[in-house]
Order: sequence, then structure tokens, then C-alpha cells
Amino acid sequence: MPPTLRRSAWTTSQSSSRHFTPLVFFAFLIPLLTLLSPYTSLLSRKHHLGIFDSLQTPILGDGASRALLVTAHPDDEVMFFSPTILSLIQEGWEVSGLCLSSGNDTGLGTIRKQELYGSYETLGVSRDRVKVIDHPDLQDSMSVHWDPALILNIVENHLNDHSAELIITFDEKGITNHPNHMAISKALSQTFHNKSIRLLHLKSPALLFKFTGPLYPIYLNILSILSRITGRENFAEKHMKFVVLSTSSQWYQSIQAMLSHKTQLVWFRWLYLTFSQLMWVNELKII
Ligand SMILES: [Zn+2]
Repeated sequence: MPPTLRRSAWTTSQSSSRHFTPLVFFAFLIPLLTLLSPYTSLLSRKHHLGIFDSLQTPILGDGASRALLVTAHPDDEVMFFSPTILSLIQEGWEVSGLCLSSGNDTGLGTIRKQELYGSYETLGVSRDRVKVIDHPDLQDSMSVHWDPALILNIVENHLNDHSAELIITFDEKGITNHPNHMAISKALSQTFHNKSIRLLHLKSPALLFKFTGPLYPIYLNILSILSRITGRENFAEKHMKFVVLSTSSQWYQSIQAMLSHKTQLVWFRWLYLTFSQLMWVNELKII
């Protein structure tokens, strides 16, 4: 959960804005998506930017087909990782989710747990492949330190029962600089680096590009074209190889998944869904 805006601070303005914002949202977004749809469809073609088809054989081994997404809070999976989840499933991977807290910072943990299952189901991950941890030392909080050893212990125990060849999680900046996100990244980087189970980090977007929404894929495409024109193929590969893009229909699927997180749908979250780059693009790197 992005840490910057806490629900309590916005309570008075929420009720009047809640009815208004979705209308504004769709009024702007539907024409925009119509305009951009051909570009995003073109970009998402496997031979351009697909990652998992090319990664599978040379890097992960022939039998690689199971991926585990490790997140900190319900809604991380859809707000940050949905292009990756949808791309993996499209490529035939079996995706499972491990969420290390129930997101109980405002006492809504039980509800948010159910919301998480609903979100994953909409993205194509069945309930029996999603696990939520509710450990007293791993509570959703900006001020609680999550012990790396405990995180590691939980992930390794999970892998004993549900094996995977690929783990996907946050990078060192944790997308939003949330300490819970960063703690997971740190704990897993130290252990899974150069092991048979490969670790992928989701790159935190640069501030300049964070809220460029569907314009960011166009920027990436221009970058790719320029690289080809100038003959700098390696440059293009370096920047584009680990990029996963959603089509407009996959983006819509992500929005549907986010609707499961009813407790989180305050007005500013609609802005996030409209403008966040991560609803469209995931840039990943192998650790
Ligand atoms: Zn989070």
C-alpha cells in the first residue's frame, strides 16, 4: 500500500469525491485508451518485449514453469505487479502468491484478506494458490521493522510445500519506499541471489515517469526504435529485455481485480489507477 496518503487524513473529502471521481476517470480514460490501444497491443507482442518466453529456457532451465510472487500487503499484487502476473499466465506459467501481512494497519485485515483472494482470482490465480501470512511481527506498518530472517524463514517454508523456479518481488526501493516492501527485497536478495531459484525484482519507476500511465509504453517504444536506428541493439536489449506490458484489455482486467479491494478504493486511488505506469508496464531485473 502506498504510504504517502493515509485514509484518516482524507475522511472529510472522500464522501463528496467518491461519486464524482469515477465519472471523471472514465470520461478521460476511455477516449485515451481508444487512441492508444493500437500502440499498446503492438508493444505487448511477445517478440518485442516478452520476457518469460525468452527467460525460460536459457536462464531458468527447461522445466521452469512455476512463479511465486512475494508481496507485503493486499493490493500490492494488482497495483504494482499485475502486468507481470498476467504476462506469466499468458505464457503458461503457474503463478502463486504469498502476501506477508493481511494489511491490518487500520483493523481491516480480515476483510482485506478476502479482497486479496478476489483480486488474485480476477487476475487468474486461484484461491488455493494464494497464502496470506498474519504474523505478529510482520504487521502492516511504516514503523515496524520486519526481520529479514523471519521473512526468509516464511518464504523458504512456503517453497518447501509449493515449489517455484522463479520468485518475483520488490526492488530495494520498494516502489513506494515502504519499509515493509524494502524489507522483503533485502531479505530475499541476500539469499536467492545466484541460486537455482531465480529472483526477479520489479524496478521502482523513476519519479519523472511514475504517473505517465499508458504514455510510458510509447516512450519505451520510441526508445527501442531509436536504438535500432542508431544500431545500438545492445542498448535496446539492455533496456527492453525485461519489460512486460499490458494490453488495454489486460489493463482493464487489472482494474477489475482492483475493484475487489473495496476498502482501498478511496478517491486518490482512482487517480493512481488512471495514471500509474505500473498498471501498464513492469520492468524487471534478474538478481
Ligand atoms: Zn504494500
